[in-house]
Amino acid sequence: MKEAVAGELAAAYHSRLVDRVRASNFRHVAGRLTVHLAHEFGFCYGVDRAVDYAYQARARFPGRNVFLTGEIIHNPHVNDRLRDAGIRFLTDASERNRQLGPEDVVILPAFGVTVDEMLRLTAQGCTLVDTTCGSVLNVWKNVVRYAQDGYTAIIHGKVRHEETRATASQALKFPEGRYLIVLDRDEAAIVCDYIEHGGDRAAFLARFADAMSPGFDPDTDLIRIGCANQTTMLMSESLEIGEMFGRAMRVRYGEAHAAEHFRAFDTICSATQERQDAVEALLAAEPLDLMIVVGGYNSSNTCNLARICAARVQTYHIAEPDCLISATEIRHRSIGAPSTANAAEVLSRDWLPEGRLAVGLTAGASTPNNIVGQVIETLERFTAHGS
Ligand code: SF4
Repeated sequence: MKEAVAGELAAAYHSRLVDRVRASNFRHVAGRLTVHLAHEFGFCYGVDRAVDYAYQARARFPGRNVFLTGEIIHNPHVNDRLRDAGIRFLTDASERNRQLGPEDVVILPAFGVTVDEMLRLTAQGCTLVDTTCGSVLNVWKNVVRYAQDGYTAIIHGKVRHEETRATASQALKFPEGRYLIVLDRDEAAIVCDYIEHGGDRAAFLARFADAMSPGFDPDTDLIRIGCANQTTMLMSESLEIGEMFGRAMRVRYGEAHAAEHFRAFDTICSATQERQDAVEALLAAEPLDLMIVVGGYNSSNTCNLARICAARVQTYHIAEPDCLISATEIRHRSIGAPSTANAAEVLSRDWLPEGRLAVGLTAGASTPNNIVGQVIETLERFTAHGS
């Protein structure tokens, strides 16, 4: 079945131009424009596999309804193509109240689904096509182990992200399982302070109301903790947060007993790490006039690539090639704005400097090569005149 859909996948997502740029040491020169492509960018192994499985499912069950539980990955172009291929989305208004049954095929996305959702779909007898990425399953394994051993999972992630919700639900497989989700260093610092010194319990519960397991008690549920993270967070921030919690436990319980109270595993996936490393390398190697980061506004790994770039050079995070409106206008997401699909875009003017131009380019793990290729072509068109 893989061979049967290979042509369709290539036609939908492949780019000859990107292949050529890759073969030219990731550099594309056209007149006054030089595009420097990061050495790792775009579709990761988990997304590649999920999209492949979705097309295979459509081909394998031709007479049946094939559903996705929601977006397969956070890329509007890919999700629209899947809709065009006849795959329906259970999150669409028209499908929300649908009763599923054994005749229905349901594809689970790369970032997985919650334990409850899995149980419900299984009870309904649906044929499940599970594309949950192996790197996400690895995080779940660690969280389950924490729960089994009586450790609260501290998850560095975004409360509303599907992967983090699914990961947190794994902690509740055991009666003693607990979780607490922290978004960033600031939230981690609040929790570490509570661990070290105690504090206002009511204020703590109010602050993390949406981010903790039911019945969470900071006075008893932060005595033994284990760190995990959404696979697509900023690697440097995840590591720092892990160290903050390790330090807090050493302060609270003493160096000799810290190991009884604290566990940590690095659960950033290798694809995320490689894309972040590649963009750091690009920024260090090339003097760039600006950087373009392509990917869905609700794509966590894309937003983090944009954060890395914005700290060093003028950066535009765009969702699609059409965001490049003209040589003078660009639509983009503000760096640091919430990473939601409908994040407000801003319009910037005079974004392309005159004269010789070095543009850095990367794309999130859910962005296919054809989109990257279209961005390069558009840049070429906008810079065709001028010196
Ligand atoms: S970003 Fe990482 S965890 Fe997510 S699908 Fe890709 S490889 Fe898997």
